[in-house]
Amino acid sequence: MKLCFLGTGAADYSRELLETVPDRFAPDIRRCSAAILGGKYLIDAGPHVLDSLRIAGYPAGAVTDLLMTHLHKDHFNPENIGTLAAGREQPLRIWVREDAELPEIQGTEIRRMKLYERYQVGSDLAVTGLPANHGQGTRPQHFLMEYAGRKIYYALDGAWILNGAFNALKEAHLDLLILDGTCGDYIGDFRLAEHNSIPMIRMMLPSFATTGAIDDHTVIYISHLARTLHKSHAETSAICEASGFHVARDGLTIEV
Ligand SMILES: [Zn+2]
Ligand SMILES: [Zn+2]
Repeated sequence: MKLCFLGTGAADYSRELLETVPDRFAPDIRRCSAAILGGKYLIDAGPHVLDSLRIAGYPAGAVTDLLMTHLHKDHFNPENIGTLAAGREQPLRIWVREDAELPEIQGTEIRRMKLYERYQVGSDLAVTGLPANHGQGTRPQHFLMEYAGRKIYYALDGAWILNGAFNALKEAHLDLLILDGTCGDYIGDFRLAEHNSIPMIRMMLPSFATTGAIDDHTVIYISHLARTLHKSHAETSAICEASGFHVARDGLTIEV
């Protein structure tokens, strides 16, 4: 199972930095959060997704499905999705929460998802959307993905975990858990109502372990790191490794 982080930043990415390194990934330069699973399932498509796919070496034409976590601008860019969808024989399927309102995008087909229902997205991927604590107008959902015998929970964007999602993950024994790590290692930021800080993650993980959502084999990463709220990648990584989880960076591929 290969998951590649195409972007690990929040909405406060730096345009200046992107101009400095437009054609490569660098640990301290975070493009808007997105990921690709198995080379064909794209999670979110924000302003940098086309560049990220090119840099990571994934042909855009191989993407069959786009899974949308929510409709904030750093995750949803209709123009880039139109480019991704252009010139295909089969439409690009966009999986969204059932109540999401999307503009018309040529070459796409909308698949609407009810929370808690399991959808067969491709022959090797089934996805269940679970509720997320994030701007409700953006129709947020987190994804429990069953891919090639592995279980992944992709929980961006969102703060803490809602009761329904917590219960749905009991005994999941996730292989990979990816959490929102927008805020840094301090207490007292206003964003905690819709994003996690590192102290929140330290508190959540032992509770996940008590229900069997995770266990000793689960690989845990944070992503969606705000540029203005974190130290360097190396410093943040050292802080998080000490608490048993890792920090994603753009271009990182995880195999579990
Ligand atoms: Zn975001
Ligand atoms: Zn968001």
